[in-house]
Amino acid sequence: MINHKLLEVARCPRCVATAGNDREKGRLEVVDGGFVCKTCDLAYGAFSNSGKEEPVVSAGKDLPRRGYIDLLPRQEIGQQTRYLEDEFEHELDHEHISLPLLGAKVRNDLLRKMLRPAKKDIALEVGCGDGRFCYWNRKKFGAVIGVDAAPLFAHEALDEIGLIRGDGRQLPFAPESFDKVFSLDLMEHLPLDGIEPFFTELGRVLKPDGRIFLFSNTREMGRLWPVIKLQKRVAGFFTRRGIFDFHRDELRKSDHLKAVKTWEELEYFVSQAGFTIEKKIFWNGVFQGLVDNIIIKAGEYSVRRVVRFQLDRQRKASKAQEEAASKDIRTRMASATTGLTSDWADGGGLERLRAEVESNKVTNQAEKVAAEAEEIHEENAAIDLAVRKNLKSNFARNKSGPMVVLLRVLTFMMQLDIWLFGKWRTGPFFIILKKQPK
Ligand SMILES: [Zn+2]
Repeated sequence: MINHKLLEVARCPRCVATAGNDREKGRLEVVDGGFVCKTCDLAYGAFSNSGKEEPVVSAGKDLPRRGYIDLLPRQEIGQQTRYLEDEFEHELDHEHISLPLLGAKVRNDLLRKMLRPAKKDIALEVGCGDGRFCYWNRKKFGAVIGVDAAPLFAHEALDEIGLIRGDGRQLPFAPESFDKVFSLDLMEHLPLDGIEPFFTELGRVLKPDGRIFLFSNTREMGRLWPVIKLQKRVAGFFTRRGIFDFHRDELRKSDHLKAVKTWEELEYFVSQAGFTIEKKIFWNGVFQGLVDNIIIKAGEYSVRRVVRFQLDRQRKASKAQEEAASKDIRTRMASATTGLTSDWADGGGLERLRAEVESNKVTNQAEKVAAEAEEIHEENAAIDLAVRKNLKSNFARNKSGPMVVLLRVLTFMMQLDIWLFGKWRTGPFFIILKKQPK
């Protein structure tokens, strides 16, 4: 959503870099088809959805409008996230926002508990993804704005949340604009030279008495690591037998850099940027691992079996039809080509073909195995995605169905990790930052 509240804080990313404390520099003005910077005249687009280049604002039309403003800096700064690549767009089911369940519910509950949203707060989420956390908390804050480098925003967010496409290392906002800033699952995607600008930028856009909620992780392994390692081994056992499929999860995590390795390194970056850590809770993912890596995977497997069974039945039926039709054609072709093939064989054609087949056999087989494995992953992902979409639309209609109840139980299990082990230091952490007094 593009509205006046958004324009009040959004700025030209080129101009904010040199604006210092000047809140007016880089202010945006509505023109036909988008916005221009009042300071440097650079033009920025506004779009109704990812990839749709249709203009959504014009000088004469009133705000709000559905969509987002593209304020990505024009010259590339540092390494870009892989979420910008098209294949990721296909992998991530971002079009609609579901209920907060499982890991997302654990995150969202801690966001509320630790950050304490209030009606007077103007809030910003850095790295908002499809905009789900903004959307779930839209009524808790006075206003909430989401910024992400990849414009894969959900329809609900495009309708109701102030959205900006921008870079976390050069936030396109006026200084001291926000009471609350939050960022989940983002910092671990940044390269080492992106960590300092990330914290500096959070500090720049935060009001002096504001608070930041951060969920990310270091590479530390807590005292419960042996339990988690055991789960991973169990999961590995089933994966090798083709029962569990972590292909999609691995793809998602392939973008994790975890440049901040230890808690001490985090404390260093945080204090360098002028913050102190006010609260901290760690996430020892024992129950989380049990749910994510064992229970959900087993569930996916059984659903896939049912879907495959139905697919196979359909395939067999259509194959039988096909065969009957082609049998007749083949008989007729065979009689027509007998003369031709005997000529070809006499000329040594058959020998040449045999040699060719023999030399290609080994490489062909290896390629075939790899291709088959890839095909299975793709089919698994397609089935899982279809099932997820189906579940999502079911949730929308029926918030107390048996599937939702089951997921709520699993979510409750995941929350045990926080209640039981939240004080035990490990990699994943939730923190509240506040500015050091000057
Ligand atoms: Zn400008």
